Amino acid sequence: MEKTKCLIIGSGPAGYTAAIYTGRANIPTLLYEGLQPGGQLTTTTEVENFPGYPDGVDGTQMMDDLRRQALRFGCEIRSGMAVKADLSAAPYHITIEDGTVVEADTVIIATGATAKYLGLEDEKKYAGMGVSACATCDGFFYRRKTVAVVGGGDTACEEATYLAGLAVKVYLVVRKNYLRASEIMQKRVFDNPKIEVLFEHNVVGLFGTDGVEGAHLVKRLGQPDESRYDLAIDGLFLAIGHRPNSDIFRPYVQTDETGYILTEAGTPRTGIPGVFAAGDVCDPHYRQAIIAAGSGAKAGLEVDRYLTEKGLK
Ligand code: NDP
Repeated sequence: MEKTKCLIIGSGPAGYTAAIYTGRANIPTLLYEGLQPGGQLTTTTEVENFPGYPDGVDGTQMMDDLRRQALRFGCEIRSGMAVKADLSAAPYHITIEDGTVVEADTVIIATGATAKYLGLEDEKKYAGMGVSACATCDGFFYRRKTVAVVGGGDTACEEATYLAGLAVKVYLVVRKNYLRASEIMQKRVFDNPKIEVLFEHNVVGLFGTDGVEGAHLVKRLGQPDESRYDLAIDGLFLAIGHRPNSDIFRPYVQTDETGYILTEAGTPRTGIPGVFAAGDVCDPHYRQAIIAAGSGAKAGLEVDRYLTEKGLK
């Protein structure tokens, strides 16, 4: 059994920022990086909307910078996934995949969310070359181009509307014959002359030499009148939902029906004393690096306050 004052689970902007704050407050901090060191930003190309980088920054580079900043203030960073949590009473116990059990006075859950993909081989083949799961991250690269968004929920409508402000044409590819999105979002889509909704369509593959040049579509998949054709596009955006990585904490913390951790409004407090949540694991709405970093800072400050109040510092 290992002991630490603060255990941070997750290595995206929320986790690293929290570590910078706890480190600077002189709190011994251990951070586990999880399955995808650096988090979702390492799957994007350039980050242009994080303040302080007027010329943009490569997502992986930015996460590496944040990691080094956390290390500079004494955080111990380890690779490994947390696979089990016991948050029933303080100090808390978290089990790592290699069998290590960490006993922690405070825990910051910064495990993020994972964008859902269709599961096509071509999504991997063209990752970062025309396939994206974040319009606000990557939309700018599709100015005056043609793109397709997959999905029929609020995210898909929001992303299609956002992309329509940049691209010349946006196809919204919806597998059913209706949109699941709220009426106001649907109206925005239907009122936008640049957006064409393709109901009862599925993307089954992509093609292109040095990047996406088009998608293989199936109309009315599995029906007697099923038809297949190719659609010329420069980029494909997936907007079929995200999955918050909260499974191991669900017996203890409150979540919404999708699994996003519920925190006290405007704070990272989960309701369990000394256990905080930051970043996309508790944010179904914004999902931005700057927001995650801000909530990580709040979690770091809360840890300091909690340890001081309890006389544990
Ligand atoms: P949702 O789960 O609401 O919608 C997912 C969409 O993706 C559905 O249309 C679904 O189709 C489709 N889909 C899922 N899997 C596949 C697949 N394999 N192939 C094709 N299509 C697929 O997720 P969202 O991310 O849109 O929204 C999540 C939550 O966040 C919601 O509660 C939403 O209201 C909220 N939100 C609110 C916003 C706002 O109010 N501004 C903005 C963004 C999100 P089907 O309908 O057939 O199941």
